[in-house]
Amino acid sequence: MQELKNKKEAVVIFSGGQDSTTCLFWAMKRYDKLIALSFDYGQRHKKELECAADICRRYDVEHHIMDLGLLGQLAPNSLTRQDMIVDQTAPEDGPPNTFVDGRNHLFLSFAAVFAKNRGISDLITGVSQSDFSGYPDCRDVFIKSLNVTLNLAMDYHFDIITPLMWKDKKETWALADRLGVMDIIRKETLTCYNGIIGDGCGHCPACALRKKGLDEYLLTSPGRA
Ligand code: ZN
Repeated sequence: MQELKNKKEAVVIFSGGQDSTTCLFWAMKRYDKLIALSFDYGQRHKKELECAADICRRYDVEHHIMDLGLLGQLAPNSLTRQDMIVDQTAPEDGPPNTFVDGRNHLFLSFAAVFAKNRGISDLITGVSQSDFSGYPDCRDVFIKSLNVTLNLAMDYHFDIITPLMWKDKKETWALADRLGVMDIIRKETLTCYNGIIGDGCGHCPACALRKKGLDEYLLTSPGRA
């Protein structure tokens, strides 16, 4: 893990879901000040943005929502289109239909422009290669490549920090528990594709992945269940 002492400010890419909220609390212990950035890319459930705003309000984190509506229009995917069924299963020839082309690339690029103009160099994102579900822009090689590109693009030294890169969902729950925020993550975050906060609808792919990790973690930590 990167050495983070003496760091003052960071920008956290923040959706209000399990992963980015765990990253937010991870970062709270390491930085004097955080700015959370959420993106409106036309996702079906505006609840996601409301949930992100509520968490930031509750824990006193500065929060901004950026409009990236064009992204949802350009890249057809089941998270923005009402006429597509959410399906996390990856076909042989590509990522699942929940994948939004360019999403992490654009989120991080806009976050970098935002950060540089505030004199901030650290960008924190909750992507994970271990649980990447076939999304190419969650892989470590992409993040490292983009980091170099952003530095060159703006002649500035960014650090893209990925606390969850090598953690699966079970290990992400374990991290939340170590940070003392497991109940907050369980009850206040929104991962569900059907827009239900906390344990969610229980049957969409995001709920299934989240629950599988939670059940695995609780098995190893009986006092927690
Ligand atoms: Zn669900």
